[in-house]
Amino acid sequence: MKLCLPVLSLFVTFVACSTQSSRSFEQISAKATENGLILSQPSFEQSPEAVVATVDSVLVSANAALDAIAGQDPETATFESTFVALDSAAYPMMTVMNRYWLMKETRQEPEIRKACMNQVQRLSEWGVEVEYREDLYQICREVSERIESGDLPKPGGEDAQLYRDIMRDYRRAGFNLNAATREKVAKLKNKLSKLESDFDSNITNASVVLEFPAEELNGVSESFLESSKTDQGRHAVRVTVTPDYMAVMEKCSVRKTRRKVNAARYSIAMEENGPILNKMVRLRSKMATLLGYSNWADYKIEPKMASTGGEALGFAEGLARGLQPKFDAEVSELQKLMAKETGKPNAQIQWWDFRYYQNQLMKSRYSVDSDVLRNYFPLKGVIAGMFDVYQHIFDLRFTQVEPGYKWVDDLELWAVEDATTGEAMGMFYLDLYPRPGKYNHFAQFDIIGGKLLDDGRYQRPVVSLVCNFTPGVGDDPALMNHGEVETIFHEFGHAMHSILTRAKYQRFSGANVARDFVEAPSQMFEAWVWDPEVLQRFAIDWRDGESVIPMETLANMKKAKLATVGVFYRRQMGLALADLRMHVAEVGADAGKICNAANAEVLFEPPANTNFAAYWGHLTGYDAGYYGYGWADSIAADMGTIFENAPNRFLDKEVGMRLRNEIYSVGGSRDADISIIRFLGRERSNDAFLESIGIE
Ligand SMILES: [Zn+2]
Repeated sequence: MKLCLPVLSLFVTFVACSTQSSRSFEQISAKATENGLILSQPSFEQSPEAVVATVDSVLVSANAALDAIAGQDPETATFESTFVALDSAAYPMMTVMNRYWLMKETRQEPEIRKACMNQVQRLSEWGVEVEYREDLYQICREVSERIESGDLPKPGGEDAQLYRDIMRDYRRAGFNLNAATREKVAKLKNKLSKLESDFDSNITNASVVLEFPAEELNGVSESFLESSKTDQGRHAVRVTVTPDYMAVMEKCSVRKTRRKVNAARYSIAMEENGPILNKMVRLRSKMATLLGYSNWADYKIEPKMASTGGEALGFAEGLARGLQPKFDAEVSELQKLMAKETGKPNAQIQWWDFRYYQNQLMKSRYSVDSDVLRNYFPLKGVIAGMFDVYQHIFDLRFTQVEPGYKWVDDLELWAVEDATTGEAMGMFYLDLYPRPGKYNHFAQFDIIGGKLLDDGRYQRPVVSLVCNFTPGVGDDPALMNHGEVETIFHEFGHAMHSILTRAKYQRFSGANVARDFVEAPSQMFEAWVWDPEVLQRFAIDWRDGESVIPMETLANMKKAKLATVGVFYRRQMGLALADLRMHVAEVGADAGKICNAANAEVLFEPPANTNFAAYWGHLTGYDAGYYGYGWADSIAADMGTIFENAPNRFLDKEVGMRLRNEIYSVGGSRDADISIIRFLGRERSNDAFLESIGIE
């Protein structure tokens, strides 16, 4: 199938890009300055000593600012000189923290990564100390009493949100408890933070490689065999590298190999992280009890949309139950394929089989081969097409500029401006390919958060997308599979959420929203890469430069997706239940066992003597929060219907601008419930989501 128009529109995009790139960062930044905005590139430290020195000096000034807040006369202190001043005092520290978080995952110099890791640890510990500073709490409490008594004006709008949240944080930190109990909580929190950091490092530093002769990797692609070849003529499967792992799980027809790779993956960091996880869960439980909550899930979920552990568990259990018939039907289909292929009528689908037979099902029934589709997704074309979509619906202009410093040679930096007003909105880096020591998933990292500064200027945000796309081989361009296209649309949604902020306080700017809502807009954008109108714009075969992705393939892919969505969401709910149950369990329960049991109940029995949870990065930071993906999916599907029903559907600018103004601009400065209703123009509902996964 050949279409001319999309090729033309792609061509226009490229022209637009090359025209825009004649403007330099300095020009764009100078214009921002004229408008009272700051658009600046982060200054990246170049030695371990510099990494330490920055923190030394930031801590001195932050402590001085905090001392000044605490030392005020309570009679003359105001909302601005306390609550607002706290947001400002934390901001430089948060900026360093964000930058080091990125640097420890992306820098090529191991000694700089290590220094950043240590300083992140130091800053976290300092942050905990600040949270527990009695003098800061007292001045806030006294101002709060004057606000409540009418002596000071009641804060409104975003100020009211700041006031409410800071006072809630103090309560959550235990300031309503006696001094001895509070001291215990602070100690537990410090210990926990150290354990979490160790847990994360063990995941990041893990490297497991299994070698196989070619015949034991039957079914994997030629390119995988080629790139994994060792000097001895065997093939190295990097179990800790997700694309390697998935290649075997989806493609390798040798069951023994799949089982071995699966077991190896679920044993990563098990010796170190298994015991650490149990300690973490125990400390969390103790802390929750001291703070007056029934369990850690209740404590963690309080500031989120779900608001209690029970509400979240109810959602996950209900969805898992609702999916039972769909799940059973899907597994029975996979079973039939397996029986046919193996000649064993009673063959049982196990954990290490389902992805392989799902892939077989795709190929046999839906004739979808994700490797063939890769030719329609050359990375550069996908990114240009994605930029085209986002620029259009949000009325933006992206301009590639030269980074002052590159942590890797092929790093890109883009400035984002409002296309109508020319207002600078922010910048994003693209770090696209894997390398040793780099973060091994796909994520958006904040670097500089948006904030209205004390001098009245607005600091515009800077973020980075950190990706691991497979680079091109020889003269062939880098190609993406459809799942990766979905991923970059998702992650770029986060970048937009961060960059398009107008919140005054860094606490609320960008994607600083309820954690069970933050994924919703990005998950909604995953639907874009299933839409023919959107795909026609960029899914073009790189080999001839004009063949658009065949629409029947797309329709088949959609059917195929629906054919596996039951297993997909049962897996999601298995993880959600594992995470919630370990965080509502009695003290002393084994977290790894709870996790394996939840997965066995809802999905399949994990390989024997493994501990999936030991390599599960979500358990630090997103703990008692995994349900949020499904929860947010439900909101995403609901929000998606607004685009679907708009005159220009997924390319509708009016709805795009409503998303920008009612969701992205406000960030956390308003409760998510309200922002969602403003965007939808009605109350939210789960119907669209249930329908989308085949539950009536
Ligand atoms: Zn996300």
